[in-house]
Amino acid sequence: MKLVPTSSLGFPRIGPNRELKFALEKYWKGTISQHDLLQVARSVEDAAWALQVGLTKITVGDQYLYDFVLMMTESLGMVPKRFAHLPPGIDRLFAMARGVDGAPALSMKKWITSNYHYMVPEYDETSQIHADFSRFLEDCRRGVATLGADCATPVLLGPVSFAYLTKISAPGVSRSTLVDLLLPVYEALIQELVGLGVKEIQIHEPCLVFNDPSINPLLDAAYPKILAPDVTINMVSYMDDVGDTNYQWLMSAANGIHVVSLDFTRGDTLALVQKYGATKTIGCGLVDARNVWKFDPATALPVLKCLVDKGVIFRIQPSSTLQFLPWTVEREDKLIAESHPALQVLAFAKEKLQEVARLAKVAGCLLDGEDSEHLLSDHESAWKSFVESRQTSQSSSVRDRLQAVQPSDFRRSTDYLERRKQQLKGLPALPTTTIGSFPQTSAIRRVRAAWKKGLLNDAEYQAAMDQQIAYCIGVQETLGLDILVHGEPERTDMVEFFGEQLEGILFTQHGWVQSFGSRCVRPPVFWNDISRPFPMTTREFKVAQSLTEKPVKGMLTGPITILNWSFPRIDISGKDQAFQIALCIRDEIRDLEEAGCIVVQVDEPALREGMPFRTAERDEYLNWAVDAFRLSTAGAKSETQIHTHMCYCEFQDCMHAIDRMDTDVNSIENARSDNATLKAFKSIGYTKGFGPGLYDIHSPVVPSRDEIEAKLRSFLTVLDLDQTVVNPDCGLKTRGWPETIAALRNMVEATAVVRNEL
Ligand code: GLN
Ligand code: ZN
Repeated sequence: MKLVPTSSLGFPRIGPNRELKFALEKYWKGTISQHDLLQVARSVEDAAWALQVGLTKITVGDQYLYDFVLMMTESLGMVPKRFAHLPPGIDRLFAMARGVDGAPALSMKKWITSNYHYMVPEYDETSQIHADFSRFLEDCRRGVATLGADCATPVLLGPVSFAYLTKISAPGVSRSTLVDLLLPVYEALIQELVGLGVKEIQIHEPCLVFNDPSINPLLDAAYPKILAPDVTINMVSYMDDVGDTNYQWLMSAANGIHVVSLDFTRGDTLALVQKYGATKTIGCGLVDARNVWKFDPATALPVLKCLVDKGVIFRIQPSSTLQFLPWTVEREDKLIAESHPALQVLAFAKEKLQEVARLAKVAGCLLDGEDSEHLLSDHESAWKSFVESRQTSQSSSVRDRLQAVQPSDFRRSTDYLERRKQQLKGLPALPTTTIGSFPQTSAIRRVRAAWKKGLLNDAEYQAAMDQQIAYCIGVQETLGLDILVHGEPERTDMVEFFGEQLEGILFTQHGWVQSFGSRCVRPPVFWNDISRPFPMTTREFKVAQSLTEKPVKGMLTGPITILNWSFPRIDISGKDQAFQIALCIRDEIRDLEEAGCIVVQVDEPALREGMPFRTAERDEYLNWAVDAFRLSTAGAKSETQIHTHMCYCEFQDCMHAIDRMDTDVNSIENARSDNATLKAFKSIGYTKGFGPGLYDIHSPVVPSRDEIEAKLRSFLTVLDLDQTVVNPDCGLKTRGWPETIAALRNMVEATAVVRNEL
């Protein structure tokens, strides 16, 4: 049988037991040395290599300690002014990642469409390039020694993408001048890699998928200029197809690139191959590195057949680095013990390697003109039996209900102006409230953990939570807030709390993926149609409301946030999955209303981040995302005031969508910004309730009454008095009680001063 080569594009860096996370945190605390930290990083890398042995090409030099963009920034010596006084090296890298006295960290952004965050490079008026790639080269040398020069493949983030992602504030410097500055460094670096004996280098240029014509001159400037004659260059892109222009550029002989790695699991890469053919070796990213499912033969086979028919030379590989996936399914004892049906088709990073190997065999058969059925039969039967296991009466009733949804289900029964009069009567002007969570003390966390371990029974646990709720209500009453919250002591995480109670969503024990630096998340997995077997929040609401005459806000997470922070299904659309959750939220709001709730907040912090990066696809996403939110909330009575909360992002490119959500009050993170966002909302005619964050909850510093008062007055120069709501900029769960109480007291007092003048 013909052997089809295989390649990896990267493996999870955090380790099977989050070893790197714990080592980083110890290093930052000063309890281990830099040597120990690097030892851990290397042992994780060794473990990853050991699993990948058998692949034709394995990546090296990519066991970044914090983030790959930051590693590049540090090695280039391209630091902004506020870090210029620090000596180069790992500590400067961490200083840029986490900030040091007087020098706030680089900002963090989501990596393309993933939930990974990279550190945004900055080039300011004092920045210069002082490259030192010795640590990277040392890592690559270690890779070559371990895996051999034929296999070990160094990874570089390409100069065009690096410049594209950099925030440039130096006068007279453009992306193109920055690329020009980077070229000699890359040229020298590639020479040094050739000197190590490597046969191939991966250059990741993810900006190829942005389809932004401004990158084309930059690509032409860099390639083939920086390349060396004696090494194969594999140019890698992922998360989407590269579009017509970039595909043709990649295939052109002039750029010096030999292998073109493309994502065949997103966008329409196959159409590009069919349209233009492939004159270079294709790195066929057919194993989805962004999701936890085994490949579906029905979608993989047509791609392989097309490549074989067209006589394309190709390799099999994951669609991108596997860093977005947990390490292995083998650790999931609970799912294994209960023989969860999803196990048949789940694949984390380790299992994705087996998928690569299997597809390579199938491809080999196809090349030989042989039958590959036998290689796929267990795969097909696994999917078949999984799909059958999902067909429960529960799931068909979810589907029936979704089918029966009517256009009127997306509309509140009355218009905003009319229903607003019926809501929360008797509330003063400038009502004060908070975003939901109150300090999550270690005592609270201990109680939750003890209950999960079975050390506390339900009654004991609930009593402990109720005590917290009572304390929280007492504090808010004493401070004189107007719309109270129960404080969310029972929630570890705003998605996990709901996901665990919904049917059709599963949770892993060890499914950690890196979010940024040492921070890892364990995304829920959607595996079946989603329904709500019982009310999720009414008990805590009732406890809280029974303790006060003031209205207590019901607190829910919206469908888009739940979807965007999970691993979705691949057999139905994101829209359908969001709508299924929406129906659960809709029922929850009805139950809250029945329990006496007259104000409900449905948080959607992740609305903006699910937005596709290509403008052409944005409207479609925003339309169904807004519809999902409306399906969640439109069933509320006119008298029920619906709030939402959004944070972590700029809103300017989705304000119309936010307006269409038709919420009565929207509280947004704004404490660190001026009035630009407010003005922008005003300019599009946003007239509904608005609560821009008055102070920054991310910092332990207590804002003074005067500061808050000044900020409120400045908001009121833009917003109408009767649309303005007073609140901090996000939940308070990461803060301690003393600073929380002090800050809220100042907020309430500042509001009273402004109110008294009315
Ligand atoms: N209600 C949530 C809280 O207060 C909102 C969290 C968020 O915006 N990310 O914690
Ligand atoms: Zn928030």
